[in-house]
Amino acid sequence: MELLKEKIKQDGIAVNKHILKVDSFINHQIDPMLMQEMGKDIADHFKDRNITKVATIESSGIAPALMAAAAMSVPLIILKKQPSKILNQDLYQTVVTSFTKETNYELTLSKKYISAEDHILIVDDFLANGEAATAALRLLRMSHATIAGIAVLIEKSFQPGHEKLVSQGIEVYALARIAEMSENYIKFQN
Ligand code: 5GP
Repeated sequence: MELLKEKIKQDGIAVNKHILKVDSFINHQIDPMLMQEMGKDIADHFKDRNITKVATIESSGIAPALMAAAAMSVPLIILKKQPSKILNQDLYQTVVTSFTKETNYELTLSKKYISAEDHILIVDDFLANGEAATAALRLLRMSHATIAGIAVLIEKSFQPGHEKLVSQGIEVYALARIAEMSENYIKFQN
């Protein structure tokens, strides 16, 4: 999506080879008009896929996921991060080990918001190593819902997330793909 690429060129900050800061329009301050356009773009891409719900992991995926859900007129489910490991029969639960942040957390989803009949689109801000998306897939699959695909605003294609998901047969739709980065340098794929 040209609009997002232009915004990244203008306001994105490549901190180093791995981290892109987009705090001024996605992660800290949000540009609602751009976010709305990105939500519409995602909705348009998946329009023939009978999506019944959008799912995201709290918290940075909520803004794009909400805009996509609104454009599709379907509910948004937020997969919740919790520190505790108390088993609860009303929840699907999975433990996520974050290698990047070197922490463990529990990801949870109430059973009442999902069923085997659902067609779920996962939406997140970034796809990097694919840890978050893999955990979301694991959790959502517990309900036997169909996963229609994953949409992200920015894919860092030089990291393994894309390949991890595509090798499981999951469609990955990214509005901007970054092929290479270094301090103050961003090269887009295509
Ligand atoms: P993963 O490595 O699991 O694909 O990425 C997990 C999460 O880390 C993403 O949803 C995103 O919130 C955050 N993240 C990963 N890489 C970046 C980055 O370069 N910049 C920012 N701002 N967040 C990132």
